[in-house]
Amino acid sequence: MVQQIRHFIGGEWVNSASGETFESINPATEEVIAIAPKGDVSDIDKAVEAAKKAYTQWRLIPAPRRGEILYEVARILQERKEDLARLMTQEMGKILAETRGDVQEAIDMAYYMGGEGRRMQGYTAPVEMPNKFGMAIRDSVGVVGLITPWNFPVAVPSWKMLPALVAGNCVVWKPSEDTPAISAAFVQVFADAGLPAGVLNLVTGAGEAGAALAVHPNVRVISFTGSTATGLSVYTKAAAVGKKVTLEMGGKNAIIVMDDANLSLAVDAINWSAFGTTGQRCTATSRLIVQKGIKPKLLEALAEKAKMIKVGYGIQPDVQMGPLVNMKALNKVASYMDVAKTDGARVLVGGGRADMDKGFFFLPTILDGVKQGMRVEQEEIFGPVLSVIEVESLEEAIHVNNSTAYGLSSSIFTENVNAAFRAIRDLTTGIVYINHGTTGAEIQFPFGGTRGTGNGMREAGASALDSFTEWKSVYVDFSGQLQRAQIDNRE
Ligand code: ADP
Repeated sequence: MVQQIRHFIGGEWVNSASGETFESINPATEEVIAIAPKGDVSDIDKAVEAAKKAYTQWRLIPAPRRGEILYEVARILQERKEDLARLMTQEMGKILAETRGDVQEAIDMAYYMGGEGRRMQGYTAPVEMPNKFGMAIRDSVGVVGLITPWNFPVAVPSWKMLPALVAGNCVVWKPSEDTPAISAAFVQVFADAGLPAGVLNLVTGAGEAGAALAVHPNVRVISFTGSTATGLSVYTKAAAVGKKVTLEMGGKNAIIVMDDANLSLAVDAINWSAFGTTGQRCTATSRLIVQKGIKPKLLEALAEKAKMIKVGYGIQPDVQMGPLVNMKALNKVASYMDVAKTDGARVLVGGGRADMDKGFFFLPTILDGVKQGMRVEQEEIFGPVLSVIEVESLEEAIHVNNSTAYGLSSSIFTENVNAAFRAIRDLTTGIVYINHGTTGAEIQFPFGGTRGTGNGMREAGASALDSFTEWKSVYVDFSGQLQRAQIDNRE
């Protein structure tokens, strides 16, 4: 059955102003699963207007009450977890165990940010004059625009939406054109949890709608997750009109395996981090930096495991790896096989499309003989492709890890505590794992990367509210008389 999706604006499910639509395709079966409105600038205008109107009331609702709505969001998500997971698998392809995890992240975040309703911590500090009081409080910013990708269609928006809402902002959300159905189902949860009309608005569509949101004069903050090219374009345009922008873009994450590593632990972690979500996580492992001594044994075990992975439709319980999200992604990943061979790398496992009647399936792939600086070692492929780089020492491993344009996640497998702590100190990524793959971030810690991965902001954790609040410094003089500090030349 093909679902009919609509925008959600001012508490109503509505068609696009233009009447234009687009199809959402199941990447495993190539069937159309939903038809959604193709939003453009006029739909974005309406959504921002609705958000702006709702903001006048929403900002005045006490934060603990706003938090209680988020608890209700968490409860409903829990209730609908299985249905949401199945819809997500149908729409973007990752296997059920992973789509359940995706919904679970939103549940965790809803509880975490619901609790923020009773914290929202600012601080007081002593002030210079008698009978005067000073405090810094977090203030909402107004209407925030969220632009998100398809690979974590519930989790990633939840990292943005939930802190934005609990802080008292109203939201216009433009999800990926590959996941309109799961986005609408997610928004329905907020409506059913009692979020007032206009506080959260959904406009489905492609880049045109995202671009309109990024420059809308009534949107104060843009939070973006997606490709580097699009992120930088959004950043440039939004910054040019004075907006605050949070960016989470590419990754080229590596696992380092030292000679003294626990082999079976490393093999499991690499297998999961490289091929989980078909390699389409921003934290996926796309490079294996391995010390010379352990390399033969490690590659043998990895190759054996990669060949055993059952590729197929993720809704079937025995399938371990789903398809790529669409034909464009499949063509991109396939094109890197020629790039690898031209540059002198060798396909150890996989290297081509999986043999299926339908769907955008690519085999788990391991490339051996990759050297630091080759294109497959530097560029984000976003598929189930692992490049293996041999190194002599810890210093060389860390140098290779740090020598890419991105800096999201990294990992080292070693039983040597000194090597582990050197790695913690010297790996220049936003997330570092010891004896664990590069994926699996938890929402109570900051998420984001250095260098080309972002622009210095972090999502989740103690920094979750930073993108969506401004500091307001308040001075209360209760002396009843004119007081001046001795050197009164402050701003
Ligand atoms: P992906 O390769 O993950 O689809 P994109 O960066 O193209 O990455 O997409 C991420 C999000 O950015 C999607 O919601 C997409 O529709 C949106 N988008 C694409 N182009 C633009 C643009 N020019 N301006 C704003 N948003 C855009």
